[in-house]
Amino acid sequence: TLQDRLADVFKGLRSKGRLTAADIDATMREIRIALLEADVNLGVVKEFIAAVKERSLGIELSKALNPSQQIIKIVNEELVTILGGEARTIRFAKRPPTVIMLAGLQGAGKTTLAGKLAKWLRGEKHAPLLVAADLQRPNAVNQLQIVGERAGVHVFAPEPGNGVGDPVKVARDAIEHAQRRLYDVVIVDTAGRLGIDETLMQQAADIKAAVNPDEVLFVVDAMIGQDAVNTAKAFEDGIGFDGVVLTKLDGDARGGAALSIAKVVGKPIMFASNGEGLGDFDVFHPDRMASRILGMGDVLTLIEQAEKTFDAEQSRAAAEKLMGGRAKFSLQDFLGQMQQLRKMGPLSKIFGMLPGAGQFKDAINEIDEKEVDRIEAIIHSMTPAERDDVAILNGSRRARIAKGSGTQVSDVNQLVNRFVEARKMMERMAGGGGMPGMPGMPP
Ligand code: GDP
Ligand code: MG
Repeated sequence: TLQDRLADVFKGLRSKGRLTAADIDATMREIRIALLEADVNLGVVKEFIAAVKERSLGIELSKALNPSQQIIKIVNEELVTILGGEARTIRFAKRPPTVIMLAGLQGAGKTTLAGKLAKWLRGEKHAPLLVAADLQRPNAVNQLQIVGERAGVHVFAPEPGNGVGDPVKVARDAIEHAQRRLYDVVIVDTAGRLGIDETLMQQAADIKAAVNPDEVLFVVDAMIGQDAVNTAKAFEDGIGFDGVVLTKLDGDARGGAALSIAKVVGKPIMFASNGEGLGDFDVFHPDRMASRILGMGDVLTLIEQAEKTFDAEQSRAAAEKLMGGRAKFSLQDFLGQMQQLRKMGPLSKIFGMLPGAGQFKDAINEIDEKEVDRIEAIIHSMTPAERDDVAILNGSRRARIAKGSGTQVSDVNQLVNRFVEARKMMERMAGGGGMPGMPGMPP
């Protein structure tokens, strides 16, 4: 996944304060591979990489984020932009009923979506009517009726035994029916074929012309990958649509198709379906899809929190000390850093959100909040002079601190030893600037 690839690239970058052009090239290469693996259209990948690269070269050294985090942030922002930025949902007509027409290949999930939309609309205090304008398959009408029953909405269907039936007429009659009975939203389910064909397109175009929909939603199975782009193009050319609905996101699709459709066709993705149940449905969230494509888990949340809670000034002072200034990095500095980190949330949760955290599950579970509490208590029991220079901590001072913090002398010893070790290590690594690591904690 991208997160593993980036973790490797970033391992080398972590200690650097500044990115070189070569660093950025290496990173872009990995992002490119990851996007292609996520099934993103090649043209889209190229354009995307160019945009990210340009922004990366202009990166200002941020105090809150290291270079790798900054690139992830840029990649994420660009993804969200391509995916449509802010999501939009149905635009309701000024004069009801609002007519929504569903189009897409057979099996895309139109009929299921009709029920999901109807249920969702009911929750939003609308009175939707479902229309069975798929008269192609023998039991298509029946399927919609079952879906309608489950969603608790009425279904307008041709009279049974009325021959083959004309979907255009059914759709037209349904609009009249909705006007008379004061339904304020009409959802027209249409027929699909297994592939693009003229008859299908013509029928959909005829229905569209007859009902003059406010929204034509192109419904597409996210699992079909690259084909989704061609299908979307064909429907855009054949009938034209206003928005996209991605279905079957509960499958293992990486979401690359979504990104490609949004970019190639330039239409917003409005809803996402992630299961067969009527509740398995949500308005589309570009930011969630972006992290799905990146495979970054909650790392973006983490980055946001870091930016929010980071006290740049305090950390700058700490970093300066580490870089060999006159004053040594002290326990007081350590306490400050630790408290900043804790502002972001429980430590185990913070580390759990890091990419690749799965590998370190055991270590993360071992992060004992109580132990961190204990460390804080010990440092709090020290005098400023002791925090400043651990060398003065003789036996009687240690005993006093242990007593004051409700711990054992061995706990105090352990903290002091770990701190001294960690500081040595940090001093060896220092020189590049950036945010220092946390002594005594996983990197
Ligand atoms: P239509 O031919 O476009 O009307 O597609 P249907 O609504 O009949 O759906 C085809 C199949 O896909 C059915 O078995 C649905 O239960 C299933 N389906 C629809 N949406 C989803 C989804 O979001 N996730 C999953 N797993 N299955 C879905
Ligand atoms: Mg159907």
